[in-house]
Amino acid sequence: MARKNRKNCQVKKMDLKKIEQGVRLVIEGLSEDPERPGLKGTPGRVARMMEDILGGTLLDPTEDLEVFQDERHDELVLIRNIPLYSFCEHHLLPFAGVAHVAYIPKEGRIIGLSKIARLVDTLARRLQVQERLTKQVADILNATLNPLGVMVVIEAEHLCMSMRGIKKPKAITVTSAVRGSFRNNPATRTEAMMLIKGGIPGGREV
Ligand SMILES: [Zn+2]
Repeated sequence: MARKNRKNCQVKKMDLKKIEQGVRLVIEGLSEDPERPGLKGTPGRVARMMEDILGGTLLDPTEDLEVFQDERHDELVLIRNIPLYSFCEHHLLPFAGVAHVAYIPKEGRIIGLSKIARLVDTLARRLQVQERLTKQVADILNATLNPLGVMVVIEAEHLCMSMRGIKKPKAITVTSAVRGSFRNNPATRTEAMMLIKGGIPGGREV
């Protein structure tokens, strides 16, 4: 299955020429001169940049999510502050922040920590909304690991809120998606939230 998906990825490509044409039209629409020296190379640069920062569009996020068996581990695993750069699909402006991903393994099924960071990255590098991104990370981990619980919290600043509209720089949007024991057990959820905030439950700051 993974191999088939990889093959599909190779077939699917971004149309950089089309992006270039679109950026040129935007420049013209702005009453700018696309031929002036500063802007001449811009459509091409933007197209190549889009290919990079939205490259997750062409990737299968479940590929490489290899599950390991480690019977000894059945306690909460948390990766805090995974850097995140995504792109608001409503305004085509970035939103950036951090993701915190926690899960409790079931029957010793665990996943490489870097794979979780990569999953966030692949899903972020698409046209997104923060709510959907949060859910997608939680649902894919839930389906892949079938753990006792998954919790994903994303904190991000949206340039579409900071630069335009209500112009509230530094406002942070927080979204969460909880599955399994994090949803059913308030104590488990509280423990994860404490750890995300950098403390240990009932204890000192770490
Ligand atoms: Zn937006």
